[in-house]
Amino acid sequence: MSKNLTTRAEDYSKWYNELVVKADLAENSGVKGCMVIKPYGYAIWEKIQAELDRMFKETGHSNAYFPLFVPKSMFEAEEKNAEGFAKECAVVTHYRLQNDPDKPGKLRVDPNAKLEEELVVRPTSEAIIWSTYKKWIQSHRDLPLLINQWANVVRWEMRTRLFLRTAEFLWQEGHTAHATRTEAIEETEKMMNVYAEFAENFMAIPVVKGIKTANERFAGAEETYCIEALMQDGKALQAGTSHFLGQNFAKAFDVKFANAEGKLEHVWGTSWGVSTRLMGALIMTHSDDKGLVLPPNLAPTQVVIVPIHKTDEQLEAIDAVANDLVAQFRKLKISVKYDNRTTLKPGFKFNEYELKGVPVRIAIGPNDLENGTFEVARRDTLTKEVVAKDAVVKHIELLLEQIQDELFDKAFEYRNSHITEVSNFDEFKDVLENKGGFVSAHWDGTSETEEKIKDLTKATIRCIPLDRKEEAGRCVLTGKPSAGRVLFAKAY
Ligand code: AMP
Repeated sequence: MSKNLTTRAEDYSKWYNELVVKADLAENSGVKGCMVIKPYGYAIWEKIQAELDRMFKETGHSNAYFPLFVPKSMFEAEEKNAEGFAKECAVVTHYRLQNDPDKPGKLRVDPNAKLEEELVVRPTSEAIIWSTYKKWIQSHRDLPLLINQWANVVRWEMRTRLFLRTAEFLWQEGHTAHATRTEAIEETEKMMNVYAEFAENFMAIPVVKGIKTANERFAGAEETYCIEALMQDGKALQAGTSHFLGQNFAKAFDVKFANAEGKLEHVWGTSWGVSTRLMGALIMTHSDDKGLVLPPNLAPTQVVIVPIHKTDEQLEAIDAVANDLVAQFRKLKISVKYDNRTTLKPGFKFNEYELKGVPVRIAIGPNDLENGTFEVARRDTLTKEVVAKDAVVKHIELLLEQIQDELFDKAFEYRNSHITEVSNFDEFKDVLENKGGFVSAHWDGTSETEEKIKDLTKATIRCIPLDRKEEAGRCVLTGKPSAGRVLFAKAY
Protein backbone atom coordinates (compact mmCIF):
# COMPACT_ATOMS: atom_id res chain seq x y z
CA MET A 1 0.00 0.00 0.00
CA SER A 2 1.31 3.46 -0.89
CA LYS A 3 2.29 5.86 1.85
CA ASN A 4 -0.30 7.59 3.99
CA LEU A 5 -2.30 10.54 2.82
CA THR A 6 -1.21 14.06 3.58
CA THR A 7 -3.42 15.08 6.52
CA ARG A 8 -6.08 17.76 6.29
CA ALA A 9 -4.28 19.82 8.93
CA GLU A 10 -0.99 19.67 7.01
CA ASP A 11 -2.39 20.78 3.67
CA TYR A 12 -6.11 20.52 2.96
CA SER A 13 -5.78 21.08 -0.74
CA LYS A 14 -3.06 18.47 -1.12
CA TRP A 15 -5.08 16.05 1.01
CA TYR A 16 -8.03 16.45 -1.38
CA ASN A 17 -5.96 15.96 -4.54
CA GLU A 18 -4.22 12.89 -3.14
CA LEU A 19 -7.42 11.40 -1.86
CA VAL A 20 -9.21 11.69 -5.21
CA VAL A 21 -6.37 9.84 -6.90
CA LYS A 22 -5.61 7.25 -4.19
CA ALA A 23 -9.26 6.33 -3.64
CA ASP A 24 -9.37 5.67 -7.39
CA LEU A 25 -12.06 8.25 -8.11
CA ALA A 26 -10.48 10.28 -10.89
CA GLU A 27 -7.20 11.44 -12.35
CA ASN A 28 -5.85 14.17 -14.56
CA SER A 29 -5.91 13.31 -18.24
CA GLY A 30 -3.74 14.10 -21.21
CA VAL A 31 -6.10 16.99 -21.92
CA LYS A 32 -5.44 20.07 -19.82
CA GLY A 33 -8.27 20.83 -17.41
CA CYS A 34 -10.17 17.63 -18.24
CA MET A 35 -10.31 14.59 -15.96
CA VAL A 36 -10.70 10.87 -16.33
CA ILE A 37 -13.39 9.60 -13.98
CA LYS A 38 -12.30 6.13 -12.92
CA PRO A 39 -14.72 3.20 -12.43
CA TYR A 40 -15.04 3.69 -8.66
CA GLY A 41 -15.68 7.41 -9.02
CA TYR A 42 -18.09 6.80 -11.86
CA ALA A 43 -19.99 4.22 -9.80
CA ILE A 44 -20.65 6.93 -7.20
CA TRP A 45 -21.70 9.37 -9.93
CA GLU A 46 -24.09 6.74 -11.29
CA LYS A 47 -25.72 6.49 -7.86
CA ILE A 48 -26.05 10.27 -7.75
CA GLN A 49 -27.57 10.21 -11.24
CA ALA A 50 -29.96 7.38 -10.50
CA GLU A 51 -31.46 9.04 -7.44
CA LEU A 52 -31.70 12.50 -9.01
CA ASP A 53 -33.20 11.02 -12.16
CA ARG A 54 -35.82 9.28 -10.04
CA MET A 55 -36.62 12.55 -8.28
CA PHE A 56 -36.88 14.48 -11.56
CA LYS A 57 -39.27 11.92 -12.99
CA GLU A 58 -41.30 11.90 -9.81
CA THR A 59 -41.72 15.66 -10.24
CA GLY A 60 -42.98 15.22 -13.79
CA HIS A 61 -39.85 15.69 -15.91
CA SER A 62 -38.73 13.63 -18.93
CA ASN A 63 -35.25 13.19 -20.36
CA ALA A 64 -34.21 14.26 -23.85
CA TYR A 65 -30.97 14.97 -25.64
CA PHE A 66 -29.84 18.04 -27.61
CA PRO A 67 -26.67 18.61 -29.69
CA LEU A 68 -23.23 19.38 -28.27
CA PHE A 69 -22.68 22.17 -30.80
CA VAL A 70 -24.48 25.48 -30.97
CA PRO A 71 -24.14 27.68 -34.08
CA LYS A 72 -22.64 31.01 -33.03
CA SER A 73 -25.62 33.06 -34.24
CA MET A 74 -27.96 30.90 -32.18
CA PHE A 75 -25.69 31.20 -29.18
CA GLU A 76 -25.70 35.01 -29.49
CA ALA A 77 -29.48 35.33 -29.52
CA GLU A 78 -29.89 35.80 -25.77
CA GLU A 79 -27.34 38.56 -25.36
CA LYS A 80 -26.75 38.46 -21.62
CA ASN A 81 -26.29 34.70 -21.62
CA ALA A 82 -23.90 34.88 -24.57
CA GLU A 83 -21.89 37.68 -23.02
CA GLY A 84 -21.68 35.91 -19.67
CA PHE A 85 -20.30 32.71 -21.16
CA ALA A 86 -18.27 34.16 -24.07
CA LYS A 87 -14.95 34.10 -22.24
CA GLU A 88 -15.25 30.39 -21.46
CA CYS A 89 -16.36 29.09 -24.85
CA ALA A 90 -14.52 26.55 -26.96
CA VAL A 91 -15.31 27.14 -30.63
CA VAL A 92 -15.12 24.74 -33.56
CA THR A 93 -13.91 26.48 -36.71
CA HIS A 94 -12.93 23.62 -39.04
CA TYR A 95 -14.28 20.19 -39.88
CA ARG A 96 -11.24 18.45 -41.35
CA LEU A 97 -7.53 17.80 -40.87
CA GLN A 98 -5.02 17.00 -43.61
CA ASN A 99 -1.38 15.92 -43.87
CA ASP A 100 0.90 18.85 -43.24
CA PRO A 101 2.97 19.32 -46.43
CA ASP A 102 5.83 20.92 -44.41
CA LYS A 103 5.95 18.40 -41.55
CA PRO A 104 5.87 14.74 -42.56
CA GLY A 105 3.80 12.58 -40.25
CA LYS A 106 1.94 15.60 -38.84
CA LEU A 107 -1.55 16.86 -39.44
CA ARG A 108 -2.87 20.37 -39.80
CA VAL A 109 -6.25 21.99 -40.10
CA ASP A 110 -7.38 21.90 -43.73
CA PRO A 111 -7.64 25.59 -44.69
CA ASN A 112 -10.34 24.62 -47.22
CA ALA A 113 -12.49 23.05 -44.55
CA LYS A 114 -13.46 26.15 -42.64
CA LEU A 115 -17.00 26.03 -41.31
CA GLU A 116 -19.35 28.58 -42.81
CA GLU A 117 -20.62 29.27 -39.33
CA GLU A 118 -18.53 28.62 -36.25
CA LEU A 119 -19.93 26.21 -33.67
CA VAL A 120 -19.78 26.88 -29.95
CA VAL A 121 -19.29 23.80 -27.80
CA ARG A 122 -22.18 24.15 -25.35
CA PRO A 123 -21.23 25.70 -22.00
CA THR A 124 -24.95 25.36 -21.17
CA SER A 125 -27.85 24.51 -23.49
CA GLU A 126 -30.50 27.22 -23.18
CA ALA A 127 -29.85 28.49 -26.72
CA ILE A 128 -30.16 25.18 -28.55
CA ILE A 129 -33.08 24.09 -26.39
CA TRP A 130 -35.12 27.28 -26.68
CA SER A 131 -34.56 27.36 -30.45
CA THR A 132 -36.14 23.89 -30.43
CA TYR A 133 -38.94 24.85 -28.03
CA LYS A 134 -40.08 27.37 -30.63
CA LYS A 135 -41.16 24.38 -32.72
CA TRP A 136 -42.65 22.46 -29.81
CA ILE A 137 -44.76 25.16 -28.21
CA GLN A 138 -47.78 26.77 -29.87
CA SER A 139 -50.62 26.54 -27.46
CA HIS A 140 -51.20 26.61 -23.69
CA ARG A 141 -51.90 22.89 -24.11
CA ASP A 142 -48.19 22.37 -24.88
CA LEU A 143 -47.31 23.77 -21.46
CA PRO A 144 -45.74 23.15 -19.06
CA LEU A 145 -42.87 21.53 -20.92
CA LEU A 146 -40.65 19.78 -18.40
CA ILE A 147 -37.41 18.44 -19.87
CA ASN A 148 -34.11 17.32 -18.40
CA GLN A 149 -30.89 16.45 -20.19
CA TRP A 150 -27.94 14.41 -18.88
CA ALA A 151 -24.90 15.67 -20.75
CA ASN A 152 -21.38 17.02 -20.77
CA VAL A 153 -20.62 20.72 -21.17
CA VAL A 154 -17.43 22.66 -21.72
CA ARG A 155 -16.38 25.84 -19.93
CA TRP A 156 -12.79 26.86 -20.61
CA GLU A 157 -11.78 27.23 -16.98
CA MET A 158 -8.26 28.46 -16.32
CA ARG A 159 -7.74 27.06 -12.83
CA THR A 160 -9.11 23.56 -12.60
CA ARG A 161 -9.44 21.04 -9.75
CA LEU A 162 -10.57 17.43 -10.09
CA PHE A 163 -14.41 17.33 -9.83
CA LEU A 164 -14.70 20.83 -8.36
CA ARG A 165 -13.91 22.76 -11.49
CA THR A 166 -13.03 21.10 -14.77
CA ALA A 167 -13.11 22.36 -18.34
CA GLU A 168 -15.44 19.58 -19.42
CA PHE A 169 -17.87 18.33 -16.81
CA LEU A 170 -20.85 16.02 -16.59
CA TRP A 171 -24.14 17.38 -15.35
CA GLN A 172 -27.84 17.42 -15.78
CA GLU A 173 -29.64 20.51 -16.96
CA GLY A 174 -33.37 20.93 -16.60
CA HIS A 175 -35.11 23.31 -19.01
CA THR A 176 -38.76 24.03 -18.48
CA ALA A 177 -41.35 26.26 -20.13
CA HIS A 178 -44.50 27.60 -18.47
CA ALA A 179 -47.57 29.68 -19.19
CA THR A 180 -47.21 32.01 -16.23
CA ARG A 181 -44.58 33.78 -14.23
CA THR A 182 -45.92 32.31 -10.99
CA GLU A 183 -45.74 28.78 -12.29
CA ALA A 184 -42.16 29.24 -13.52
CA ILE A 185 -41.07 30.64 -10.16
CA GLU A 186 -42.77 27.71 -8.42
CA GLU A 187 -40.81 25.33 -10.64
CA THR A 188 -37.53 27.14 -9.91
CA GLU A 189 -38.15 26.83 -6.18
CA LYS A 190 -39.36 23.25 -6.46
CA MET A 191 -36.14 22.13 -8.15
CA MET A 192 -33.98 23.96 -5.64
CA ASN A 193 -35.89 22.02 -2.99
CA VAL A 194 -35.33 18.75 -4.86
CA TYR A 195 -31.59 19.50 -4.86
CA ALA A 196 -31.61 20.37 -1.17
CA GLU A 197 -33.50 17.22 -0.28
CA PHE A 198 -31.11 15.13 -2.35
CA ALA A 199 -28.02 16.76 -0.84
CA GLU A 200 -29.29 16.29 2.70
CA ASN A 201 -30.92 12.86 2.50
CA PHE A 202 -28.62 11.17 0.05
CA MET A 203 -25.30 12.90 0.27
CA ALA A 204 -25.69 13.74 3.99
CA ILE A 205 -24.60 17.29 3.15
CA PRO A 206 -26.50 20.08 4.90
CA VAL A 207 -27.16 23.03 2.62
CA VAL A 208 -28.35 26.60 2.90
CA LYS A 209 -31.06 27.50 0.41
CA GLY A 210 -30.87 31.00 -0.90
CA ILE A 211 -30.87 33.52 -3.69
CA LYS A 212 -27.78 34.80 -5.48
CA THR A 213 -27.01 38.50 -5.70
CA ALA A 214 -27.05 40.16 -9.13
CA ASN A 215 -23.25 39.75 -9.34
CA GLU A 216 -23.39 36.00 -8.93
CA ARG A 217 -26.57 35.41 -10.92
CA PHE A 218 -26.61 33.09 -13.96
CA ALA A 219 -26.14 35.11 -17.16
CA GLY A 220 -29.59 35.47 -18.72
CA ALA A 221 -31.57 34.71 -15.54
CA GLU A 222 -33.83 37.02 -13.60
CA GLU A 223 -33.18 35.17 -10.37
CA THR A 224 -30.79 32.40 -9.37
CA TYR A 225 -31.64 30.15 -6.45
CA CYS A 226 -28.89 27.99 -5.03
CA ILE A 227 -27.90 25.48 -2.41
CA GLU A 228 -24.64 26.26 -0.63
CA ALA A 229 -22.62 23.72 1.33
CA LEU A 230 -19.70 24.16 3.71
CA MET A 231 -16.55 22.10 3.38
CA GLN A 232 -14.38 20.96 6.31
CA ASP A 233 -11.77 23.65 5.65
CA GLY A 234 -14.36 26.36 6.14
CA LYS A 235 -14.81 27.17 2.45
CA ALA A 236 -18.23 27.21 0.85
CA LEU A 237 -19.21 25.34 -2.28
CA GLN A 238 -22.10 26.07 -4.61
CA ALA A 239 -23.68 22.66 -4.89
CA GLY A 240 -26.58 23.38 -7.21
CA THR A 241 -28.40 26.21 -8.95
CA SER A 242 -31.94 26.77 -10.18
CA HIS A 243 -32.68 29.74 -12.40
CA PHE A 244 -35.85 31.69 -13.07
CA LEU A 245 -35.30 32.87 -16.65
CA GLY A 246 -38.32 35.13 -16.92
CA GLN A 247 -39.26 35.51 -20.60
CA ASN A 248 -35.67 36.23 -21.65
CA PHE A 249 -35.10 33.13 -23.76
CA ALA A 250 -38.66 33.07 -25.06
CA LYS A 251 -38.15 36.61 -26.35
CA ALA A 252 -34.70 35.85 -27.78
CA PHE A 253 -36.04 32.80 -29.66
CA ASP A 254 -39.56 34.06 -30.27
CA VAL A 255 -41.28 31.29 -28.34
CA LYS A 256 -44.97 32.20 -27.92
CA PHE A 257 -48.10 30.30 -27.00
CA ALA A 258 -51.77 30.99 -27.55
CA ASN A 259 -53.41 31.31 -24.15
CA ALA A 260 -56.92 30.02 -23.37
CA GLU A 261 -58.40 33.17 -24.97
CA GLY A 262 -56.31 32.63 -28.10
CA LYS A 263 -54.00 35.57 -27.36
CA LEU A 264 -50.26 35.11 -28.04
CA GLU A 265 -47.90 35.44 -25.09
CA HIS A 266 -44.21 34.77 -24.49
CA VAL A 267 -43.41 31.63 -22.55
CA TRP A 268 -41.79 31.72 -19.09
CA GLY A 269 -38.68 29.62 -18.47
CA THR A 270 -36.48 27.96 -15.88
CA SER A 271 -33.23 26.03 -15.95
CA TRP A 272 -31.44 24.14 -13.20
CA GLY A 273 -28.32 22.03 -12.88
CA VAL A 274 -25.98 20.04 -10.71
CA SER A 275 -22.69 18.64 -11.90
CA THR A 276 -19.84 16.27 -11.09
CA ARG A 277 -18.83 19.04 -8.66
CA LEU A 278 -21.15 17.20 -6.25
CA MET A 279 -18.48 14.50 -6.07
CA GLY A 280 -16.08 17.11 -4.74
CA ALA A 281 -18.66 18.22 -2.17
CA LEU A 282 -19.17 14.62 -1.07
CA ILE A 283 -15.45 14.00 -0.63
CA MET A 284 -14.76 17.27 1.17
CA THR A 285 -17.71 17.05 3.55
CA HIS A 286 -17.17 13.61 5.07
CA SER A 287 -13.72 12.22 4.37
CA ASP A 288 -10.86 12.05 6.88
CA ASP A 289 -7.10 11.57 7.04
CA LYS A 290 -7.46 7.85 6.36
CA GLY A 291 -9.39 8.37 3.13
CA LEU A 292 -12.87 8.56 1.77
CA VAL A 293 -15.94 8.34 4.00
CA LEU A 294 -19.09 7.58 2.02
CA PRO A 295 -22.68 7.87 3.19
CA PRO A 296 -24.26 4.41 2.78
CA ASN A 297 -26.88 5.75 0.35
CA LEU A 298 -24.16 6.59 -2.18
CA ALA A 299 -21.59 3.89 -1.49
CA PRO A 300 -21.19 1.51 -4.46
CA THR A 301 -20.28 -1.18 -1.92
CA GLN A 302 -22.00 -0.74 1.44
CA VAL A 303 -20.59 -3.78 3.19
CA VAL A 304 -17.36 -5.65 2.58
CA ILE A 305 -16.57 -9.04 4.06
CA VAL A 306 -12.93 -9.99 4.57
CA PRO A 307 -11.87 -13.53 5.56
CA ILE A 308 -8.94 -14.01 7.92
CA HIS A 309 -7.38 -17.41 7.56
CA LYS A 310 -4.16 -19.35 7.53
CA THR A 311 -5.13 -22.60 5.81
CA ASP A 312 -7.23 -23.48 2.79
CA GLU A 313 -9.61 -25.45 5.00
CA GLN A 314 -10.23 -22.38 7.12
CA LEU A 315 -10.94 -20.33 4.01
CA GLU A 316 -13.37 -22.94 2.76
CA ALA A 317 -15.29 -22.87 6.03
CA ILE A 318 -15.35 -19.05 5.99
CA ASP A 319 -16.44 -19.02 2.30
CA ALA A 320 -19.54 -21.01 3.17
CA VAL A 321 -20.59 -18.63 5.96
CA ALA A 322 -19.70 -15.53 3.95
CA ASN A 323 -21.60 -16.62 0.87
CA ASP A 324 -24.66 -17.18 2.98
CA LEU A 325 -24.29 -13.67 4.40
CA VAL A 326 -23.89 -12.22 0.90
CA ALA A 327 -27.16 -13.84 -0.15
CA GLN A 328 -28.98 -12.42 2.88
CA PHE A 329 -27.65 -8.89 2.25
CA ARG A 330 -28.59 -9.04 -1.43
CA LYS A 331 -32.15 -9.94 -0.50
CA LEU A 332 -32.28 -6.70 1.45
CA LYS A 333 -30.78 -4.79 -1.50
CA ILE A 334 -27.66 -4.03 0.50
CA SER A 335 -24.67 -3.99 -1.83
CA VAL A 336 -22.04 -6.32 -0.51
CA LYS A 337 -18.69 -7.62 -1.62
CA TYR A 338 -16.94 -10.72 -0.34
CA ASP A 339 -13.23 -10.21 -0.90
CA ASN A 340 -11.64 -13.64 -0.68
CA ARG A 341 -8.70 -12.87 -2.93
CA THR A 342 -5.84 -15.00 -1.64
CA THR A 343 -3.15 -12.85 -3.22
CA LEU A 344 -3.59 -10.04 -0.68
CA LYS A 345 -3.26 -9.92 3.10
CA PRO A 346 -6.28 -8.89 5.24
CA GLY A 347 -4.38 -5.80 6.46
CA PHE A 348 -3.92 -4.64 2.88
CA LYS A 349 -7.62 -5.13 2.19
CA PHE A 350 -8.60 -3.27 5.35
CA ASN A 351 -6.51 -0.29 4.24
CA GLU A 352 -7.95 -0.35 0.76
CA TYR A 353 -11.56 -0.34 1.95
CA GLU A 354 -10.79 2.34 4.48
CA LEU A 355 -9.27 4.48 1.74
CA LYS A 356 -12.30 3.85 -0.47
CA GLY A 357 -14.79 4.64 2.24
CA VAL A 358 -16.79 1.40 2.35
CA PRO A 359 -19.17 2.13 5.26
CA VAL A 360 -19.10 -1.27 7.01
CA ARG A 361 -16.54 -4.05 7.12
CA ILE A 362 -17.09 -7.55 8.46
CA ALA A 363 -14.05 -9.63 9.33
CA ILE A 364 -14.48 -13.40 9.73
CA GLY A 365 -11.75 -15.61 11.19
CA PRO A 366 -11.64 -19.20 12.48
CA ASN A 367 -12.32 -18.01 16.06
CA ASP A 368 -15.46 -16.22 14.88
CA LEU A 369 -16.73 -19.42 13.34
CA GLU A 370 -16.18 -21.20 16.63
CA ASN A 371 -17.79 -18.46 18.71
CA GLY A 372 -20.62 -17.74 16.32
CA THR A 373 -19.68 -14.03 16.11
CA PHE A 374 -18.31 -11.51 13.59
CA GLU A 375 -16.22 -8.39 13.95
CA VAL A 376 -18.09 -5.43 12.50
CA ALA A 377 -16.16 -2.19 11.82
CA ARG A 378 -17.57 1.22 10.94
CA ARG A 379 -15.60 3.35 8.49
CA ASP A 380 -16.88 6.72 9.68
CA THR A 381 -16.05 6.33 13.38
CA LEU A 382 -13.33 3.68 12.92
CA THR A 383 -14.94 1.70 15.77
CA LYS A 384 -15.37 -2.06 15.97
CA GLU A 385 -17.80 -4.33 17.74
CA VAL A 386 -18.47 -8.04 18.00
CA VAL A 387 -21.89 -9.10 16.78
CA ALA A 388 -23.60 -12.50 17.08
CA LYS A 389 -23.80 -14.34 13.77
CA ASP A 390 -27.59 -14.62 13.72
CA ALA A 391 -28.09 -10.94 14.48
CA VAL A 392 -25.54 -9.52 12.09
CA VAL A 393 -27.66 -8.89 8.99
CA LYS A 394 -30.39 -7.03 10.86
CA HIS A 395 -27.74 -5.22 12.88
CA ILE A 396 -26.00 -3.96 9.76
CA GLU A 397 -29.23 -3.01 8.05
CA LEU A 398 -29.92 -0.65 10.97
CA LEU A 399 -26.29 0.38 11.25
CA LEU A 400 -26.24 1.63 7.66
CA GLU A 401 -29.20 3.90 8.41
CA GLN A 402 -27.54 5.06 11.59
CA ILE A 403 -24.29 5.89 9.77
CA GLN A 404 -26.22 7.83 7.13
CA ASP A 405 -27.97 9.87 9.84
CA GLU A 406 -24.88 10.43 11.93
CA LEU A 407 -22.82 11.62 8.97
CA PHE A 408 -25.48 14.22 8.31
CA ASP A 409 -25.66 15.21 11.98
CA LYS A 410 -21.90 15.64 12.19
CA ALA A 411 -21.77 17.78 9.06
CA PHE A 412 -24.81 19.74 10.24
CA GLU A 413 -23.21 20.50 13.57
CA TYR A 414 -19.98 21.60 11.90
CA ARG A 415 -21.90 23.79 9.44
CA ASN A 416 -24.07 25.37 12.15
CA SER A 417 -21.11 26.13 14.36
CA HIS A 418 -19.54 27.85 11.35
CA ILE A 419 -22.20 30.43 10.67
CA THR A 420 -20.96 33.43 12.59
CA GLU A 421 -22.82 36.71 12.95
CA VAL A 422 -20.57 39.74 12.90
CA SER A 423 -21.37 43.39 13.50
CA ASN A 424 -18.37 45.22 12.06
CA PHE A 425 -15.70 44.79 9.42
CA ASP A 426 -12.87 43.95 11.85
CA GLU A 427 -14.92 41.07 13.20
CA PHE A 428 -15.75 40.09 9.63
CA LYS A 429 -12.08 39.82 8.65
CA ASP A 430 -11.17 38.13 11.91
CA VAL A 431 -13.77 35.39 11.48
CA LEU A 432 -12.81 34.82 7.86
CA GLU A 433 -9.11 34.55 8.66
CA ASN A 434 -9.21 32.62 11.91
CA LYS A 435 -12.36 30.56 11.88
CA GLY A 436 -13.67 30.30 8.34
CA GLY A 437 -17.15 29.24 7.39
CA PHE A 438 -20.10 31.47 6.60
CA VAL A 439 -20.00 35.00 7.92
CA SER A 440 -23.49 36.35 8.45
CA ALA A 441 -23.37 40.10 7.97
CA HIS A 442 -25.42 43.10 6.98
CA TRP A 443 -24.83 44.40 3.47
CA ASP A 444 -26.14 47.56 1.86
CA GLY A 445 -27.44 45.71 -1.20
CA THR A 446 -25.08 47.24 -3.78
CA SER A 447 -22.80 45.42 -6.21
CA GLU A 448 -20.05 47.97 -5.49
CA THR A 449 -19.88 47.05 -1.82
CA GLU A 450 -19.98 43.35 -2.67
CA GLU A 451 -17.04 43.83 -5.07
CA LYS A 452 -15.10 45.87 -2.55
CA ILE A 453 -15.50 43.22 0.13
CA LYS A 454 -14.40 40.58 -2.35
CA ASP A 455 -11.27 42.58 -3.24
CA LEU A 456 -10.42 43.13 0.41
CA THR A 457 -11.11 39.63 1.73
CA LYS A 458 -11.69 37.20 -1.20
CA ALA A 459 -15.09 36.45 0.36
CA THR A 460 -18.17 36.54 -1.86
CA ILE A 461 -21.84 36.64 -0.99
CA ARG A 462 -22.81 33.00 -1.19
CA CYS A 463 -26.50 33.74 -0.91
CA ILE A 464 -29.30 35.67 0.64
CA PRO A 465 -30.75 32.84 2.75
CA LEU A 466 -34.42 32.16 2.05
CA ASP A 467 -35.14 31.76 5.74
CA ARG A 468 -33.34 34.89 6.94
CA LYS A 469 -35.13 37.03 9.42
CA GLU A 470 -35.95 40.56 8.39
CA GLU A 471 -33.73 42.57 10.66
CA ALA A 472 -32.78 46.15 9.96
CA GLY A 473 -29.09 46.87 10.41
CA ARG A 474 -26.05 48.65 9.01
CA CYS A 475 -23.75 47.33 6.26
CA VAL A 476 -20.50 45.92 7.72
CA LEU A 477 -18.43 47.89 5.23
CA THR A 478 -20.28 51.12 4.47
CA GLY A 479 -22.58 51.50 7.47
CA LYS A 480 -25.49 52.15 5.10
CA PRO A 481 -28.90 50.69 5.95
CA SER A 482 -29.49 46.97 5.33
CA ALA A 483 -32.72 44.97 5.40
CA GLY A 484 -31.17 41.72 6.60
CA ARG A 485 -28.06 39.59 6.86
CA VAL A 486 -26.49 37.70 3.96
CA LEU A 487 -23.94 34.88 4.03
CA PHE A 488 -20.39 35.63 2.95
CA ALA A 489 -17.63 33.03 2.60
CA LYS A 490 -14.51 32.17 0.71
CA ALA A 491 -15.63 29.59 -1.81
CA TYR A 492 -14.47 26.90 -4.20
P1 AMP B 1 -24.61 27.11 -13.76
O1 AMP B 1 -25.11 26.67 -15.08
O2 AMP B 1 -23.46 28.07 -13.86
O3 AMP B 1 -25.67 27.58 -12.82
O4 AMP B 1 -23.97 25.81 -13.07
C1 AMP B 1 -24.70 24.66 -12.87
C2 AMP B 1 -24.00 23.72 -11.94
O5 AMP B 1 -22.73 23.34 -12.46
C3 AMP B 1 -23.73 24.38 -10.58
O6 AMP B 1 -24.09 23.44 -9.60
C4 AMP B 1 -22.26 24.64 -10.58
O7 AMP B 1 -21.75 24.54 -9.28
C5 AMP B 1 -21.70 23.57 -11.51
N1 AMP B 1 -20.49 24.02 -12.22
C6 AMP B 1 -20.27 25.23 -12.81
N2 AMP B 1 -19.06 25.27 -13.39
C7 AMP B 1 -18.47 24.07 -13.16
C8 AMP B 1 -17.19 23.48 -13.50
N3 AMP B 1 -16.29 24.16 -14.21
N4 AMP B 1 -16.96 22.21 -13.11
C9 AMP B 1 -17.88 21.51 -12.41
N5 AMP B 1 -19.08 22.01 -12.07
C10 AMP B 1 -19.39 23.27 -12.43
